[in-house]
Amino acid sequence: MGAKSRAIGLMGGTFNPIHYGHLVTAEAARDAFGLERVIFVPAGQPPHKTGMIAPAEHRYLMTFLATASNDRFDTSRVEIDRPGPSYTSETLAHFHALDPDVHWYFITGADAVMEIVQWHAAREVFEYAEVIAASRPGYALRLSALVPDLGERVKHIHHLEVPALAISSSDIRRRLARGLSIRYLVPEAVEHYIRKNGLYTSGSE
Ligand code: NAP
Repeated sequence: MGAKSRAIGLMGGTFNPIHYGHLVTAEAARDAFGLERVIFVPAGQPPHKTGMIAPAEHRYLMTFLATASNDRFDTSRVEIDRPGPSYTSETLAHFHALDPDVHWYFITGADAVMEIVQWHAAREVFEYAEVIAASRPGYALRLSALVPDLGERVKHIHHLEVPALAISSSDIRRRLARGLSIRYLVPEAVEHYIRKNGLYTSGSE
């Protein structure tokens, strides 16, 4: 990708729902990699998901609400509005075409990154971006397991440890289904949105 003076993060995730772990991750990545901003990209139709997920428009709006108060964060509709499965390689090609002079970083969870070789056109991901794999501290990111498929490309995967990733969307959904509090796990506006729209009530998990 050569030396480019501007670096921007693309925060990929299903965000079902978005929580403080995601927001802290984006801010930590911004600091650690000198990103001028981070664009959150909620997946429209996650290609690998079969379980119940909230409708894309709800996940987009919750992400928008959660990021609104940070002037270095934006939220993109690109995957929400694109028909068909949300392939990361297509999303990165889109952003690269918008601004080829930017050094793009794709940020997502370490568990998702460890599955990257099964993604659609996985190798193309590295034509457009470097990858930041975020995890809670102590997670063993075994990049050597990816070498047979990715070769030298694994050098473009970076590990970022984020203590706030003890928070997880699945735990939040379970709490909501059981009527437990999610206060301090998600921004207040997101909690209000979830309750107003009756998301993640029992039976939706
Ligand atoms: P997932 O498999 O549901 O998540 C795996 C783990 O990573 C979970 O612990 C999850 O925690 C965490 N995580 C997800 N996004 C994160 C983020 N931005 N920052 C920190 N932790 C994160 O993953 P997913 O959210 O569905 O997918 C992750 C990204 O990979 C999405 O952008 C998706 O489109 C992409 N992806 C692409 C392909 C493809 O192109 N074929 C296939 C698979 C995934 P939470 O549940 O708490 O978020």
